[in-house]
Amino acid sequence: MKPVIHNWIAGDVVGGNSALNLVNTVSGWGYDPEDWVPDMESFLVWARLSGLLDEGEKKQVARLIEGSPAAAERILASVKELRFTLWSLISCLQHRKPAKPGDLSVINEWIRRLALAEQVVVERNKIEVAIKRDISVLELIGLRVTAAALALLKNPPAGRIKTCPGENCGWKFVDRSKNRSRRWCDMAVCGNLVKAREYRARKG
Ligand SMILES: [Zn+2]
Repeated sequence: MKPVIHNWIAGDVVGGNSALNLVNTVSGWGYDPEDWVPDMESFLVWARLSGLLDEGEKKQVARLIEGSPAAAERILASVKELRFTLWSLISCLQHRKPAKPGDLSVINEWIRRLALAEQVVVERNKIEVAIKRDISVLELIGLRVTAAALALLKNPPAGRIKTCPGENCGWKFVDRSKNRSRRWCDMAVCGNLVKAREYRARKG
């Protein structure tokens, strides 16, 4: 997969679910895929932008990985394995195909980790399920994506998980339009993609 430094903006986060947003850090699934979070720095920018980390958590993660680049590599590799698994699983869900055994074992391992990390707490006088405070912030992104993936898999919005047909796009999103008419990830985003590629092609 070609590593590409992408200048992430809020408008690029279009999946409507964190699991789909993670899938959408690759552009061109099934065609000529590009990895738009090739390093920890761009990955953290994306994680903050997509709401998976708050500002304080992002700083904590940045500090931790500075002290341990090897741990950072491991975390990034495991989240990217989850990303591929989610793409494959959700594609099967969309096409009503059975999931692949390898994908099931990856997602089930993440679900086990999530189950060990979660507890019931009282927040603002409400009972909630939350990730324990003693879990390393390095684990948060993968665990939060897993929670979002579980919600999607438990209650898949029938006919509403779509794949953008844009040239070399393949991003996935939940279509929340009234008459299920949304076809593109976002016209502007797809336009930007084309432009970004043309720009890189000229540069190269
Ligand atoms: Zn698109």
